[in-house]
Amino acid sequence: MDNDFFQHISLFHTGKYVNLEQHKEPAFSAPLNSVPLRDKAYVPLWAPYGGHMYPVAREGDRCARFSLLARTKVHANRMGPSWVMSPVSGYVEELRTIDHPLIGRTFCAVIRPNSKVPPLPTTSHQLNAMTEDGVLRAIHQAGIIDEFDHSALTQKILDAKERGIREVAAIALDDSPYVSSALKTVSEFGMEVNDGLSVVLKALDGGSAKLAVYDCDEIEMNAQRFNFGFVEVIEMRGGFPLISKFKHQYYPKGDFLPVGVQALRSAAQALSLGIPQTNSIVTVSGDCVKRPCNVIVVHGTPIDDVLRFVGVNRHPRYVIMGDTMTGKTVTDLKTPVIAGTRAITVMNSLAKPDKTACTRCGKCVEVCPMGLPVYEAIRLYERGQIKEAAGFGAEQCSGCGGCSAVCPAGLEVAHIMRNLKRVKKIQHTK
Ligand code: SF4
Ligand code: SF4
Repeated sequence: MDNDFFQHISLFHTGKYVNLEQHKEPAFSAPLNSVPLRDKAYVPLWAPYGGHMYPVAREGDRCARFSLLARTKVHANRMGPSWVMSPVSGYVEELRTIDHPLIGRTFCAVIRPNSKVPPLPTTSHQLNAMTEDGVLRAIHQAGIIDEFDHSALTQKILDAKERGIREVAAIALDDSPYVSSALKTVSEFGMEVNDGLSVVLKALDGGSAKLAVYDCDEIEMNAQRFNFGFVEVIEMRGGFPLISKFKHQYYPKGDFLPVGVQALRSAAQALSLGIPQTNSIVTVSGDCVKRPCNVIVVHGTPIDDVLRFVGVNRHPRYVIMGDTMTGKTVTDLKTPVIAGTRAITVMNSLAKPDKTACTRCGKCVEVCPMGLPVYEAIRLYERGQIKEAAGFGAEQCSGCGGCSAVCPAGLEVAHIMRNLKRVKKIQHTK
């Protein structure tokens, strides 16, 4: 591997262009397998609510699957402190810091798996017999992270309760060219997603639910054939960021709680099996991957193990963790899969068109989740009217990168918008 392999880019945040044509089918139609952990698990002791996570396990300790590895000293919310459970049984070999592209610098427990260490026993719950608080506690104890926004599910529910929200939307919108992990979760675990919706609705004290599914020509999947009885299924078409379009179309006031389908599956398991969230369904794809597929990966498994399992057939130049629209390249193949890893994309080349001047196609305006007149800003920017360009709402740009992704002229639109945002900030402080 050459030095290119270790470039630290985020595809779209740097204006790199990837053709948005879909590549989901090969991975979606492949059977769902589990990736075996080869050598060691690298479990980040990360506090999703912020604050410091204190290790409970020490180097050399035996740790059972589901046992406590670390916890915060302060309460994360009214449900108590947050904690990290071990996703595997084995021995803690080392405690050290790692740099993770999705969560930054964090303490990590390096665990050597050992199947002779039995997992901790778990307790299942009966949803009907539980109070709202009991359900919330079970979700909190399971440490569930939503794969679409990397937020803790308990906190999302508590915030929604405070705002009086009674609508939940299960999000299965894989609006990224190579990713199909949400669709695969719905097709393989539809019942659990459905049960997860019941769990979240119980925590909210009732309400109604929708399922937003990506409707892709490439993939034959009729969500109606699953038992989504009480759930209204919405099929969404179009390009990134589809979640914003769904929100604008169905909840323009933002009065709903969006929850990723993997988080819902975990919520169902937290109740029915009493187990924490310890694995994710990950799409492994890209032009270097021999057998594109979706796989179940135990958290802490290094990317290296995942790539060996699926096979890499060309020289990889970009290994991207996360989805291909907002993911980050990894600099170390020991980087572990964590909750919220929806995809690993391994690319040899990124299709980049020759740059031309803005063609006034308006695609950047269509895609912008903030509703900014991006094209107007670019038009003035190209004429050198920087201050005027910044006046088109640049301060509201969220930096999502959608405009760069869709620009057929290959312009680094998001980068320009970021610069205009800075100009606006300077103007404001003067
Ligand atoms: S202008 Fe900003 S918010 Fe709008 S699509 Fe571009 S990067 Fe995203
Ligand atoms: S997408 Fe690109 S070419 Fe089209 S209007 Fe926006 S900046 Fe111009």
